Amino acid sequence: MADTEPKKPEEEAPTEEPKMSKRAMEKEAKKAAAKAAKEKAKSSGGAAKPASNEPVDPFKQGWLKGVYNEKPVKDVHTRFPPEPNGYLHIGHAKAITVNFGFARSYGGVCNLRFDDTNPAKEEERYFTSIKEMVSWLGFQPHKITHSSDDFDQLYELGEELIRRGKGYVCHCSGEEINKGRGGKEHGPRSVCEHWSRSPEDNLEDFRAMRDGKYKAGEALMRMKQYLGTMPEEYKIDKETDSAEVKKEKVKLKSLAENPALWDCAAYRVKNENYHHRTGNKWRIYPTYEFTHCLCDSFEGITHSLCTTEFETLRPAYNWLLEALDHKLPSSDEKGAMQREYGRLNVEGTILSKRRIAMLVGGTTLGGEPTTDDLADEVDAVKLEEEGDEEPEATSTTAKSAASGTGRKIPPVVRDWDDPRLFTLVALRRRGIPPGALKKFVLDQGVTKANANTMTHNLDGTVRTYLERTVPRLMLVLDPIKITCSNLADDYLEERDVPFDPKDPAKGTHKVPFTKTIYIDRDDFREEDDPDFFRLTPGQSVGLLNAEHPIRLLDFSKDTKTGKVTSINAEYGSHVPAGKARIHWVAESAKHNSPVRAEARIFKPLFKTAKPNELDWKNGGYYDDVNPESEVVMKDCMIECGFHEIKERAPWPKEEGEANGVQENSSVRFQGLRTAFFCLDKEATADRVILNRIVSLKEDGGKK
Ligand SMILES: [Zn+2]
Repeated sequence: MADTEPKKPEEEAPTEEPKMSKRAMEKEAKKAAAKAAKEKAKSSGGAAKPASNEPVDPFKQGWLKGVYNEKPVKDVHTRFPPEPNGYLHIGHAKAITVNFGFARSYGGVCNLRFDDTNPAKEEERYFTSIKEMVSWLGFQPHKITHSSDDFDQLYELGEELIRRGKGYVCHCSGEEINKGRGGKEHGPRSVCEHWSRSPEDNLEDFRAMRDGKYKAGEALMRMKQYLGTMPEEYKIDKETDSAEVKKEKVKLKSLAENPALWDCAAYRVKNENYHHRTGNKWRIYPTYEFTHCLCDSFEGITHSLCTTEFETLRPAYNWLLEALDHKLPSSDEKGAMQREYGRLNVEGTILSKRRIAMLVGGTTLGGEPTTDDLADEVDAVKLEEEGDEEPEATSTTAKSAASGTGRKIPPVVRDWDDPRLFTLVALRRRGIPPGALKKFVLDQGVTKANANTMTHNLDGTVRTYLERTVPRLMLVLDPIKITCSNLADDYLEERDVPFDPKDPAKGTHKVPFTKTIYIDRDDFREEDDPDFFRLTPGQSVGLLNAEHPIRLLDFSKDTKTGKVTSINAEYGSHVPAGKARIHWVAESAKHNSPVRAEARIFKPLFKTAKPNELDWKNGGYYDDVNPESEVVMKDCMIECGFHEIKERAPWPKEEGEANGVQENSSVRFQGLRTAFFCLDKEATADRVILNRIVSLKEDGGKK
């Protein structure tokens, strides 16, 4: 048997240095690469290339490099094959990055293939969204294909499989098929009466399936894999079997005992058969197992990369290709080579489609399961890159919980792109830069092992990424008006302020200072406090980007709410320097300042760090929703530099955003001492709405 197992992956420790600057990280990476190259040169007698100044290409390291070396072809061709039946989530960012990135690194190309073999569940909005997400992440599909493009060819191969005696039409019920698979309750594996029908008979019946003679569940075309291979056939006789025979039997045993090879369905009849691309032409549709490997072959895919749940399906993948001469037996030389990497598991949020649907649309407990729910349960096992579907979930079992029956639970989030979710549309809307997301995915490592991480780890990567790539502005979330009563009404200082003090290339902008400014309520206290270094009655404070400090003269309060409404202060060289400097925004009609804005501050959607463990059957999840998960600050003010940074977006200028459709979310900036923000998609020319991307520090607090 050829060695089809990939090399044992070299484990790479994920980078856990969110506080390091990007430059420091690059330096570290270069150092490490230089060291590795040196050592390699030593061990291989100096044959290795010397370390260059090129940044380390993550696709040419570790496990991915091993995969390439197993099949080092010139024209690498990969594919990203989502089912167009939902929105992609953060886990898919790994599949996109790995498939497109791998191809790009080795000078090849990658297709975007819509695996659209399940007619009832596909909607146009999913196709559109998936295309957008690939492009947003900075990748250009070589071709956009659809499994449905190949329905004719697939059907022909279905007939061919039957002609070769490797396919049969089966009329057993689901229960009978299960029984044949054996197990504790059913005894040994067995074939059904349809297994031994003649190819002619099967062909006629397969055509009858195609022509509508059967309803769903009445007929299946099954692949004649190893269900009929009985244990006697691979029982080793220690006395008489030669080494060669023993080896063959061991191989046969592993195939015959793999449930993925127990005569899986190739074609099934669909009652709701309307397909949005092929209309009513087909009443039968090919399964994932039949379609996937053949479409890989049709498209000339060289490296078929998927997640490790599909590892047990690899023999089935190869079986069909070999059965139809699309691959040589026990060889990866011709046709696609399937290899599996570990999933990206992100704890701290909900990624299951069905559960997000509950959050988006609300839910009624104890309702009848919909046909969709049941279909999901049947198909759950087949979902590529998406093992998060949990068939036991929600309404089917909720019925038994008397307490919950009939209870209506309202929606928890705005939509599928609510910034508190971890769908890709939500991450984009929240302002996560596509480059930071790709970096996050690769930092978790691409190996055989699953990459398990927490949502807050993404924040660390994003923070580091934004630190030097977006401009800085002053933004006041909760303003208190300050009148500097010692200044003339038309007093104006125009300060030339850099967008990023460490990066002159970002340029400078004019910031006005006038008699009326606004500071953040957090930066003021009504009483002196030795631990508080900002503005108080007895303590002056410095102003960022302004010449002098301010000192309080008096302040007034709203008698009803007790809130401070305005402060009288003086400004100038005579005011003692404060212990701290705070941000502010001035009023200046000439500069169109301040810019008024609404800011939405997001925190985790659930109080628990493990929302998947909440009670999703009886609605218990609703009680754990964090009431502070979205705090809206309605009266924020931004300095006038905002006009320019809006003009000059995207920040940063990355290929995905620079070349694609300009989204509001690419207008990003750091609010000095506050947080990173982006413009929300609901913002208009007259109405600024900001989303907090991440806080400046891990705890989100200010000192
Ligand atoms: Zn049967």
